[in-house]
Amino acid sequence: MENSAKKRIYLSSPTMHGDEQRFVAEAFDTNWVAPLGPNVNNFETELAAYTKCGYAAALSAGTAAIHLGLKLFGVGQGDVVFVSSLTFSASCNPIVYEKATPVFIDAEPDTWNLSPRALEKAFEKYPNPKAVIVVHLYGTPAKMDEIMQICEAHNVPILEDAAESLGSTYDGKHTGTFGRIGIYSFNGNKIITTSGGGMLVSKEEALVKEARMLSTQARDAARHYQHSKIGYNYRMSNIDAGIGRGQLMHLDEHLKRKKAIYQRYQEAFADIAEITMNPLNPKGDANNWLSCMTIREGSSVTPDMVMDALEAENIESRPIWKPMNLQPVFAAYDFINHNENGISVGEDIFHRGVCLPSDIKNTDADMDKVIGIVRGLFEQ
Ligand SMILES: *Cc1c(COP(=O)(O)O)cnc(C)c1O
Repeated sequence: MENSAKKRIYLSSPTMHGDEQRFVAEAFDTNWVAPLGPNVNNFETELAAYTKCGYAAALSAGTAAIHLGLKLFGVGQGDVVFVSSLTFSASCNPIVYEKATPVFIDAEPDTWNLSPRALEKAFEKYPNPKAVIVVHLYGTPAKMDEIMQICEAHNVPILEDAAESLGSTYDGKHTGTFGRIGIYSFNGNKIITTSGGGMLVSKEEALVKEARMLSTQARDAARHYQHSKIGYNYRMSNIDAGIGRGQLMHLDEHLKRKKAIYQRYQEAFADIAEITMNPLNPKGDANNWLSCMTIREGSSVTPDMVMDALEAENIESRPIWKPMNLQPVFAAYDFINHNENGISVGEDIFHRGVCLPSDIKNTDADMDKVIGIVRGLFEQ
């Protein structure tokens, strides 16, 4: 009872501004409720202008974008695809949709992203993967220079899973624009949302056109319904795209507030030697989608204790993504460890980490409360 009376402090929930409603109302007024329409085209153009990605196809989900990206690379039965292991399952599920074989690549400790060293090892074992899926976890850019160099040497295309990192840059360039194909997600808890949706982006217009065609049931250019390929119903609706256009107008503001949250935690925990914040990439600028902490090995405080203490005060937090190589559904697939032996980097982060409330609507008082609870555990 007492809990329900307290306002819940969220991990990362949608933040609406009013502009979204304007675009949605416009769609209603002009009866562009479905299927496509000006919001979809404009959302694509506006996102392409923001990220300088080239071309963009608005889709029903980030997962759909990854699936179509793999199709565009020709991934099929028997093909090997390398993919970051420390991620959300949507990064790799589409590999299995296509009956291809994921090989999970460990993280490195500097950015928590795909380890170039493990990637080199993977190429020794599997010289001809069809694609490499690189994730920018929690918004921190991966080591793209090293990763791209390795992939270029082997002539293997990169599919960049920037679902969590819209607005993050590396070397001054937006994440999602390094790979031959990139994807973004607008799921409810991401840095901007369309309630649900995704985007496939590429410098190659032909790939993006093909993605649009496949996402609308793969109709050939004929008056009658003719199909030469298997299609999907993956296109974004004109209503959702309207929400996206309104959100995109406020992305810079979201980025500022996410960064302020990260910095606030960093300063607040600076004097506690047992706490380290999730790493940033010195070559990049993160969107700080989620602020996470790890607890030093051997501490008497565990991630479960932190999450329980927060939940007792009606505050949402979350474990680090459980690595894909530890998931029952992917147990049959190979995993390449960053370390020579012993526990992998991803498993270590999973055991020691917690995602802290990173909702941009959290007030200073909310932040004080979270920080007070966490500090309290370590000061006992
Ligand atoms: C959210 C997410 C996805 C999937 O995006 P949806 O829009 O939810 O389908 C893919 N990869 C990562 C790393 C994500 O966090």
